[in-house]
Amino acid sequence: MNFSLRLWGIIAGFASLLLAGCAGRIQAAAQQPTTGAEGAVQPTRSPSWTPASLITTTPSVPSLTPSLTSTIQPSRTPTVSPTPTSAQIYYPAGQVSVPILLYHRIAEGKAANRYEVSLEDFRLQMDFLRQNGYETITPLELAKVILKGGELPLKPVIITFDDGYRSVFDLALPVLNQNGFKGVVYVITGYVGAPTYMNSEQLTVLFANGWEIGSHTVSHEDLVKNPSHAYDQMVGSKLYLENLLGVRELTVAYPYGKADENITRRAARYGYSAGMGLGVSNIHSIETLYFLSRQEIKSDCDLDCFERIVTGKKIEP
Ligand SMILES: [Zn+2]
Repeated sequence: MNFSLRLWGIIAGFASLLLAGCAGRIQAAAQQPTTGAEGAVQPTRSPSWTPASLITTTPSVPSLTPSLTSTIQPSRTPTVSPTPTSAQIYYPAGQVSVPILLYHRIAEGKAANRYEVSLEDFRLQMDFLRQNGYETITPLELAKVILKGGELPLKPVIITFDDGYRSVFDLALPVLNQNGFKGVVYVITGYVGAPTYMNSEQLTVLFANGWEIGSHTVSHEDLVKNPSHAYDQMVGSKLYLENLLGVRELTVAYPYGKADENITRRAARYGYSAGMGLGVSNIHSIETLYFLSRQEIKSDCDLDCFERIVTGKKIEP
């Protein structure tokens, strides 16, 4: 009798030990989804088990977040830009004010003609924009905000380059990168890879740097003079860029900045999100979406002239 009682006692003792162990494991398992999601292994284990689990979860999460962000930030700053952090503001749909600048080639020395801007002047102009708090956006971003409203920087600017010259890649891209800016290039798709023009690889590099690549038609024909070629010119170049970049949304810049109502309607019908024309205004709306006013920066435009264009101040006679 005595022996069997002791035996029962031993068995009961073992059973309670086993149960306690199971319960502990169950609790530990139940704790894991709440604390373990951030990938934190050590903090969840240390204080362990029942009452502590409720308290320990809270300090473990905030301790993780700052350490993650602090590791990301330093690696970003040197590569992207020294610009101040962007303050986005909401723009209602309809009208948006943004200077759209037009360049063609950047020249290493002195500008040879009006379609060139010297690298020195270009640097000064980009410095002016950065120092005055301008931030670059793309025509696609502008089109979306005009149509639906949305957030843009407080002082947006669009920097476009027509034709797709090689100097944009060699000279403009590094300057824009130094300032934390992204540009826009309107490519004559039939000239891609020709001497003094960018090749398809260089275009994909620009695209990877956040640039927008748009169409400047296949062979730079005057679309107003040759409206029967407009389909081939606008659709051919669109398909080329869609295939090259894997994008569906594109904007077009009309050769010579020339488009009439027939051409702007076709641009919309062929699926472009907006069309670039020429003009003297920085204000854009739904009515001008397919003939956005761009202002050309010519070789003789000094910093005062540049400032007047960007700020929209009227030029005195
Ligand atoms: Zn052109």
